[in-house]
Order: sequence, then structure tokens, then C-alpha cells
Amino acid sequence: MNFHTVLLDGDGVLYCGTERIDGVKETLQTLMQRGITTVLLTNNAVKIPQHYATWLNNLYFDKQDVFQADHVVTPLDVVVPFFTQHADDDRPKKVMVWGGTGELEERIEQAGFSISDDPKEVGWVVVSELVLDKDRTEKKRDAAFNAVQMYRAAIVGTNSDIYDMHTDEEGKRYKAVTGSYVGWLRMGKANPPMFWLGKEAKGIYQVVFDRFNITPDDGVLGVGDRIETDIYGANNVGIQSVLLDSRCGVDHADDIGRYIVRAQDRAKFLGKPSEFAENRVAEMAKYRPKKVISNIREILG
Ligand SMILES: [Mg+2]
Repeated sequence: MNFHTVLLDGDGVLYCGTERIDGVKETLQTLMQRGITTVLLTNNAVKIPQHYATWLNNLYFDKQDVFQADHVVTPLDVVVPFFTQHADDDRPKKVMVWGGTGELEERIEQAGFSISDDPKEVGWVVVSELVLDKDRTEKKRDAAFNAVQMYRAAIVGTNSDIYDMHTDEEGKRYKAVTGSYVGWLRMGKANPPMFWLGKEAKGIYQVVFDRFNITPDDGVLGVGDRIETDIYGANNVGIQSVLLDSRCGVDHADDIGRYIVRAQDRAKFLGKPSEFAENRVAEMAKYRPKKVISNIREILG
């Protein structure tokens, strides 16, 4: 395949949970030797970019200078541009954060907004990785719900994933993640505006394009294991995409024919009518990955 920049998803592409994936080390080395701009583009805001870089270097290279932190882009990187762009919106510049890292709050403040847990005064509720909600209390949950349903705050989700697969001593099971909580917040009379910081929207790609001074026409390839975010997102900004049907990926080649139905279900759950839901179903009906591969090495050939 012919490309100059590659946007590699994290889980299911560069690693499988905490495990290595066959072929990734050689592929990363070859990409870098060829001078291809190699970016980890993840929809997961659990770690800050520096931690992803350190973690990848430990996992594959035993030295710290291979994968650089500025080659990691996460929804956290979209926080400042997003809120700066919405600074003049007709809603309070106060934000409630449900989940996520402290880094999220810092970046919201950098954009000139302030953090508040008072549902009556916030204009925005940001929902991020609930696994990091240290004060996982009913109080916070209800505050977020009231902010949206009683006081019409807008919702900002770091990603729309409904569940992750989780395996522990009780076996394999689903674990509800950010998208589920966004869907739950929307279940009420209010029809709040909803935004995404992850690959569901164009902003995260724009961060990559700006950082590396490129355009979608400069030979950019997106590689991912989730049709509804990785493939959808790539198509949404007009770059090539490849679905990696890896042993630990979320979606598989035989899901391609079924994903429109799933996208409709998800769009309904996440809230209709909304621009997101309507656009998403329309977009997904049109687009497919350019190619399906079963090992990441295949992007080199
Ligand atoms: Mg993934």
C-alpha cells in the first residue's frame, strides 16, 4: 500500500490488552526505517500520551527513544481545540467531568473554561473513562444526569464505545464503557446537544493533520479493529482505511455486511434525532475499509 503517514489504533492493533501482538514490532521498525510518519491514534483517554509512548517502548523495544510521545494522539488532545471552538456558544463556560484523568480537567481549564460539579451552573458534561472515576458515587452520577436532563447541559463523550470485552476469574463478559454512559445520560425528556472528542468526529484527525502539517490527500492510512470508530472515522475525513481482523480485535471481516444495522441500533441508543445519529448511519452505509488484513505486517507489502 502506498502511504506516507499511518494512524495506528491502539488496542486490537498495536497491543491486545496488556499483551504484544505478533508482527507489530517488525512493522513499527520497518515503518520508521522507511521514514513513514507513524502515529498511535487511540480513542482511549485512560493514559496520557507520554504514558502510551513509554508503555509501547517497554512492550516492544526495551528502550525509551523509539516511539515518541508527540506521535501519540488521544481524545485528550482534542479538549483544548474543542472548547476553544465552543467558547462563544450560548452556554455557561463551566464543565462537569464524569470520569477521566486529571489531565482532562487541566486541559479544559487551559481552554478558559472552569470545572464545576454543580448541575445548575454547568453548560457541559464531559464523559470519559468511568474506570477512572475515583469518587464513583451516586452523587456524581446523579449530578451529571441532572445537569443534562434538568438544566440542558451539552454532552461531550471522549468516545462512543458501548462496551469492551473483559476477561477475569469470572470468565468473559462485557464491560460497559463511555458510550453506554453517554446513552444513559440521554435517556430522558431533554434532547441535549452531543459531541465527540474521538474518531467519531473530525477534530481528532485535524489534530494529527495540524501536528504533522499534512492534509488527508498526503497519503494517510488509518488502521483499526473497530468499524464504527476506526473505519468510520477514516472515511469521514477522506483517508484510506484498513480493517485489521486480529485475534483480539473487536470487529471481523464478516461483520462488514452487518455493521449498518448495528450502527443504526447504536445511533438510536446514543440519541435520536441528532446530527451524529443521522450522519453516522448515512456515512456508514456508504463506506467500507479499503482492505481487510489479518496481520499488521500486510500493510508493508
Ligand atoms: Mg481498537
